[in-house]
Amino acid sequence: MKDIALQYISCNLCGNDRTKTLFQVHPFTIVKCINCGLVYLSPRPHPEQMMGVYDSRDYYFSGGKQTEMFYGYPDYTRLQKHLYFVADELMRPVRNIAPGRLLDVGCGMGFMLKRFQELGWESYGVDISSYATEYARSELGLNAYTGTIEKLDFPENYFDLVTVVLTIEHMPDPRSSLQTLHKLMKKDATIIIATHDIEGLWPKISRSKWQHLFVPEHFFFFSYKTLKRLLMQTGFDVVKTTETATLASVTGDGHGLRIPIKLIHEYNLENIAVPILRCFHAIARQLNLSDEVTIYAVKR
Ligand SMILES: [Zn+2]
Repeated sequence: MKDIALQYISCNLCGNDRTKTLFQVHPFTIVKCINCGLVYLSPRPHPEQMMGVYDSRDYYFSGGKQTEMFYGYPDYTRLQKHLYFVADELMRPVRNIAPGRLLDVGCGMGFMLKRFQELGWESYGVDISSYATEYARSELGLNAYTGTIEKLDFPENYFDLVTVVLTIEHMPDPRSSLQTLHKLMKKDATIIIATHDIEGLWPKISRSKWQHLFVPEHFFFFSYKTLKRLLMQTGFDVVKTTETATLASVTGDGHGLRIPIKLIHEYNLENIAVPILRCFHAIARQLNLSDEVTIYAVKR
């Protein structure tokens, strides 16, 4: 990314622009709103500039190197089994809801979307990456739209369930995006949002070395409190929260899954890796080693 055009923004949660600096990641700064505590990137690159990054195949197959500005993924397809597992975990609390229409926001190459479809949901995905959505359509046969949610052509009150998994932190304006999703959802429909939790134990210990800072891909660093407040302000009631720690936090390696996934792949360890991961999640939950939060909320 040459010639970065910097953009200063005010707080997405309370509109204030009085901040204190948490970390400097030249030329960007991670700041905390003095008024409400929301942590975000300002200055940051212009969102249009980031679009070009997500659009390229390289983001999914040549990323993950600490020396480069953008983390990306060394091989996104290797995450497929893991993402199936994540999709199952995510749906566990909403198993009592009869499958209807589902929208997966930030669907990427569509692995979780595929799993949602297998679970009986009429599934639609959307992602700003033309490369990823083309893969989801041509390789997996999914309904995946390219672009932002604002460009989607669905009627209001259409979806029964919306999933936003590790996506809201990439959005340039989460408040506006939640308002758009609110319109697309039926009354009492559920939205599931999973994001990294800046108030978790791992970020407190690792501070500027925390794996999920991912500057400048991540524009926002929510906590349970700030995300809950934003959801309430945009017309949702929080009904459930779960917390997990990601493998990435422990392995401390870019997107974290690089080394384990590579080993798993080389030695054909898929059948034991997923149960181990499941155990790890359970232990992390017990010990409160969380740095990811998942919020289930319903449209008022
Ligand atoms: Zn604020």
